[in-house]
Order: sequence, then C-alpha cells, then structure tokens
Amino acid sequence: MHSKTYCPYPFSHIAIDTDGAKTLCCVSARHNKTIPPMDSRVNQPINDYWNSKKLNKIRKELLLGERPNECKTCWDFEDKNITSERMQILHKVTNDLSQEEKQIIDDNIESVKNNDVMAHPPFSWDIKFGNLCNLTCIMCDSTKSSQINKEAKRHKHLPYYPHNEIDQSTMDWPIENTFWNDFNNVVSSIKYLKVTGGEPLLNETYIEFLKKLPTNTSNSIITNGTKITEEMITNIFARFNPCVHINVSLDGIDSNYEYIRYPARWKLVEENIKLLLKYNMDITVNPTFQLHNAFNYFEILKWAESLNIVCTQGAFVFGKSYLSVDCLTDSMKKELKEYYIKGKDKLNNINHKHMVKNVINYLSKETDPEIIKQNSRMLVRYTKTYNKIRNVSFEQSCPQEWNLVKEYFNDNSSTSN
Ligand code: SF4
Repeated sequence: MHSKTYCPYPFSHIAIDTDGAKTLCCVSARHNKTIPPMDSRVNQPINDYWNSKKLNKIRKELLLGERPNECKTCWDFEDKNITSERMQILHKVTNDLSQEEKQIIDDNIESVKNNDVMAHPPFSWDIKFGNLCNLTCIMCDSTKSSQINKEAKRHKHLPYYPHNEIDQSTMDWPIENTFWNDFNNVVSSIKYLKVTGGEPLLNETYIEFLKKLPTNTSNSIITNGTKITEEMITNIFARFNPCVHINVSLDGIDSNYEYIRYPARWKLVEENIKLLLKYNMDITVNPTFQLHNAFNYFEILKWAESLNIVCTQGAFVFGKSYLSVDCLTDSMKKELKEYYIKGKDKLNNINHKHMVKNVINYLSKETDPEIIKQNSRMLVRYTKTYNKIRNVSFEQSCPQEWNLVKEYFNDNSSTSN
C-alpha cells in the first residue's frame, strides 16, 4: 500500500527541459516559477541525476506521505479538487502499464528504501529538444519559444512586456555530441517517449532521431499542429507500431485560437488535424484553460466531438495568474461557472465532461480580492502591450471573454485595447 502522496514518476520517469536540465516531470518545480528549481545542472549525466541525493530525498518524502516542494503544482491542484498530473499517472500505472513495467517501479522503490543505486534506468521520458518554435503563444515564454525570445529582444524595453530575453545559445544542447553520447546509452531502456517543445516538428535533430528510434517505442508528440505534412505522416509516423500518438495543443477555435497562438492560422491547423484523421493517426487535442479562452474552451470540446476527437485532461495556466481565471471577481466566476454547468450536458464524451467538472471546481475557489486587483491590472497592461506589438485585438478576437472583463479595461480607458 503506497502513501497518500506517492507518485510513480520519480521511480520511472525523467523530464528534460528546453535547456537540457533534468527534472521530475513536466509540471514539477522548474516549470513552476514560484519555487526554486530542483536541479538546474544542465550537463549532469543522466545516470548521476537518476541516482542523485536530491532526487532520492524527494522519492523518500513521497514514499513517506510528505509533500515535497518540487511537486507543489500537484498539491495545489489536488487542494482545489482538480485532477493533478500525479493522479493521472497513478491511474495510468494501475490501468495501462505491463507487469514488467510495474516490477521496474517496485524494484526502484526497493532501491531507494535500501539506499542502493537504482535497480533500473527510467523507462519513461519527456523531452523538450530546445525552444525552437514558430509561434508566440500568449501563455508561453522565451525559454519555450525562440520566436518569443526574438520578440523579447525587440520589445523587452517596453514597460509592460512580460518576457526576458535569454541567451539563445543555451538551447543548442540538442545538437551537441555530449548529450547524444549519454542518451544513446539509455535509449534501449525507453518504453515511453513524449517529445514536446518548442515545436518538435521543426527540429531536424529530433526528426533524425525519430527515423532511428526502435519502431516499437511508444511515442507521443505534443505539437502545435502547424508543421504536419503528408510526407511526415507516411515516412516517419507510420514507421511505429504502436502508432505515434499526436497530441495537438489547441486553446481556442477560429479568432480566439489565433489570438492565443499568434501568428498561427486556425484554418491551417484544422486542415492538418483532418489530414491526421484521414491517415487514422492516433490523435488527441490538448487545451489549456485560461482567461483568454474562458468561454471558448467549451467550443474546443464541442468542435473535437464533431470530429470524433478526444481532448486530454486540459492544463490550467499556472505561474502567470494574470492570464488565468484568477483575474476574475467572484461575480465574473459565477457567470462563467453557470455557463459551464448549463453546457456540461451538451457534451457526450466522458473525458470532456470530466474536464468541465475540473473547470467548475477551479471556478468554485475564491481568490483573494487583493490578488484579483493585481492580476486584473497586469492583464490590462500586458494585453494592451500584446495588442500593440502584434497588431491584434483582444476585443475582436475573443468577444465573449472581452465582455466578461471589459470593465477592467474601462477603468483604464486612457489606452485603447
Ligand atoms: S507529484 Fe506531481 S510534480 Fe511531483 S513528480 Fe509526481 S507528477 Fe510530477
């Protein structure tokens, strides 16, 4: 029987961030900027990281029912009655993993309890091969998008531009032999590989790697969907059995999508998704719930159902509260909550109903009025900055969301939206 905070990830999984740093998983400390990074030593060999004192300390805390700070994102979600990454992975381990994989986790748990070297290397990997990307999504940042980094270079002097410029050369590690020599030693133990970015399908190193990866690797790609081609599907994706799983990040429909994922074009992405469906690819859609799709999120679920696509448990914007519904007053949240309560029965897919339930739970939590005030002020400032430098309009692109929060902008009527 495991403890109430047990998570299988630190016993089976490694995440590599865009700059090559190794972390617990895609939602752990390093990705939640409100707490310090667990370990940012980029060049640490995989085996040293896997057997590091710091990682073993976290493992022991999880086995003892404690809540390590590195996993704060999960605790925050669970305290809001929202399904956390940890809960999802526990479900997956129970229902989808083979006996052999479960045994690897059990062996590694024993190693930690006995203070031994880990019995097995990780079999599950989540890699971001650098920040190369073609989009500047509103909830992203320069460490995840080379385009935002370019934008930051041009506009970082503006008073309300939210991103820092980073040294782009720190993202070059995927082309360095040091990484590949180390990685090739463990490639044969990989059973699950998830690759995200940046936009992974822009990354030639990754595409070359895919061409050589054993065809029985369970392979999943999180993509913005703008770079999918027929040739890629037939020459690369079709090599794998089981089929490559394509998870398309999509946070809105039509103009709402284009505002959030600037400068992507909705029609192109919709066509690419239909192309994947034509080739019977294993595809899901992955929306992130945030202020700018506060209503439109529901349209994504309906659109997905019209194409028989399942949306995966959506993420919630965290770390940038001014882009989340934590900007909303209680009465705004109430209006939104009623919209979802009414809409819930119009959805057929059980996953989608569950996602709506999570949204309703999220909206049921009160936010400190002082935080709302700060967040709404930042929302107005940053929205105006984005609108100006990108020549877009929140009001026209996201009309329902605009109506919900327009009073914030009226309070600051000296500048156009
Ligand atoms: S508890 Fe959450 S943050 Fe920690 S490793 Fe598990 S999934 Fe990641």
